[in-house]
Amino acid sequence: MKKSPPKALASAAFRIVPLRSEVAERARLAAESGAKDHAVITADSATGYPCRHCLSWAQPGERVVLFPYASIPAGHPYSEIGPIFVHGEKCERYSATDEYPADFRNGRAFRGYDANYNMIDAEVANGKDPEAIIDKLLRNPQTAFVDARSATHGCYTFRIQRA
Ligand SMILES: [Zn+2]
Repeated sequence: MKKSPPKALASAAFRIVPLRSEVAERARLAAESGAKDHAVITADSATGYPCRHCLSWAQPGERVVLFPYASIPAGHPYSEIGPIFVHGEKCERYSATDEYPADFRNGRAFRGYDANYNMIDAEVANGKDPEAIIDKLLRNPQTAFVDARSATHGCYTFRIQRA
């Protein structure tokens, strides 16, 4: 029954949700079988191809699969399908889910959604600690989850839920 004081909640009150392994694997198989909406690309920069499964940048020379992903499911005003990358080869799903992924400390925008998938708040990191923004968005009791996206390209990167 005892509740932690709010200060203690602030540091690790979130859980990082990387792309499900089944989704990554399905994308690799679809790319292999030549699906028109799945492209295999060779990364040519160290910070241009974020893998949504292991939550790290694909390195130059590594192959990635580019495919459309419904970050917000169909049937809602904010429904959204957009392009994401995963490593072309099997990679390990990001597992340090109580830690913000180090590769994406910069260049992310954060969108807060309610339980009906309506976007209710948004903020660009702009040099601020991502944890502070996530904490602020999750303090709103209406916020059901927060999506991290590329601040420039807009692409979905990962989801953040309350711990
Ligand atoms: Zn990966």
